[in-house]
Amino acid sequence: MPVKDYTYYDFTLSVCPECLQRVDAKIIFKEDKVWMRKTCREHGFFEVLIADDIEYYKNARNYNKASEAPYFSQTATHYGCPYDCGLCADHEQHSCVSVIEITDRCNLTCPTCYAMSSPHYGRHRTLEEVVKMLDIIVANEGSPDVVQISGGEPTIHPQFFEILDAAKQRPIRHLMINTNGLRIAKDKEFTKRLAGYMPDFEIYLQWDSQRPEVLEKLRGKNLLEERMKALEHLNLFNLSTTLVVTVMQGYNDDEIGSLIEFAVKQPCIRGITFQPVQVAGRNVDFDAAKNRITLTAVRQKILEQTNLFNAHDLVPVPCNPDALVMGYALKINQEIIPLTRYIDPAILLDQSKKNTIVYEQDAGLHDQLIKIFSTGISVDRVDDNMKQLLCCLPDIYAPGLKYDNLFRIIIMRFIDAWDFDVRAIKKSCVHIVHKDGRIIPFETMNMLYRDEHEQKLQAIRAGMKL
Ligand code: SF4
Ligand code: SF4
Ligand SMILES: [Zn+2]
Repeated sequence: MPVKDYTYYDFTLSVCPECLQRVDAKIIFKEDKVWMRKTCREHGFFEVLIADDIEYYKNARNYNKASEAPYFSQTATHYGCPYDCGLCADHEQHSCVSVIEITDRCNLTCPTCYAMSSPHYGRHRTLEEVVKMLDIIVANEGSPDVVQISGGEPTIHPQFFEILDAAKQRPIRHLMINTNGLRIAKDKEFTKRLAGYMPDFEIYLQWDSQRPEVLEKLRGKNLLEERMKALEHLNLFNLSTTLVVTVMQGYNDDEIGSLIEFAVKQPCIRGITFQPVQVAGRNVDFDAAKNRITLTAVRQKILEQTNLFNAHDLVPVPCNPDALVMGYALKINQEIIPLTRYIDPAILLDQSKKNTIVYEQDAGLHDQLIKIFSTGISVDRVDDNMKQLLCCLPDIYAPGLKYDNLFRIIIMRFIDAWDFDVRAIKKSCVHIVHKDGRIIPFETMNMLYRDEHEQKLQAIRAGMKL
């Protein structure tokens, strides 16, 4: 009897990477990897690598926890996912991170930019528009966990500080600025003023690489000098910073370990976030087959390229386990001690809050852990949870521990049209406020809901026989 050369694992819905029409998709295991197979009637057959580690891929699903919903859904479920964003009533996670794009413009024109930004593209949002967006987030979330002010490049907005003031006046737990760091590098006084917005304030700093040729390819310029200057200013004011690294296979995937080792030595850096490139927007000279990289491959490279973390330390995040991996460590005298060395990660899996020896010591430990391993909680915010947690763990006695002593690694993967999976997208928890007030998952926004995609979306909807 003929036997196939793969193992069939699952079935889902995806989209065609060319026309974005919904198509059936199979998930299969082949050659020790996880693949998606799908066929578009017009554009043919696609086989896409979606994970390099079968065990991790299967295990991630065990980390799902009960969905937390926002207070409102803005749209009805009508055309089916992903054509109803959003958030439609069928979405399965609230906004752990809410992104506001205060301008379309940027002081760079990176060859890789999902928002297509450049110095003359689009326009700045008015202060009134931004305030409206902030209020939409607050109405939806109550006390939003994290609001990220983004762009384009937000620091070039003429009313940038008025926008920060408006955000600070609202019950937002943590505010982030998503920036390429050019203004911070140029202007020490500007950085000092930014530092005045702490606590609960953080810089999300585009970093990518420390090799000039890679920065040239990714950002169109060798920005190394500006990056280092920005970091010098941020260290000077100990302004909480997360480095953000867009990972592209063949560009900077061999630099992951050295970037982590560099980051832990910087006093202002609280963590590093790796984002496998999302195929969306502007991707000049990009070859999806060669340059895409999976979340599991990035995780594997962290394990191979540094000795700081081991496989038990980098675990799926319960609010969106398909898209997020997280590891927490204590940073004491530039030494890194992963938190999971002291705790069995299985505790995170245990929804019953029973069955572990540690619980018998402290019933609240499970809750503390879930809080810590939740994207919504920024490193600064973890401080209290961490202290409570450390009290339960007799091996660590570290009085006076502050958030400066915490270091967090995140791998944050944004699904694109290649690996799109309806099952997983419903748990997306990083959302963008559309200028018309809808709240759209970051992933589908870049695929279908930006201005330049509107026509395609309308055509898909019109073609449906409902
Ligand atoms: S991604 Fe979420 S909000 Fe968008 S259509 Fe699917 S379920 Fe609805
Ligand atoms: S990727 Fe960021 S820095 Fe580069 S053009 Fe786009 S918005 Fe500007
Ligand atoms: Zn197609």
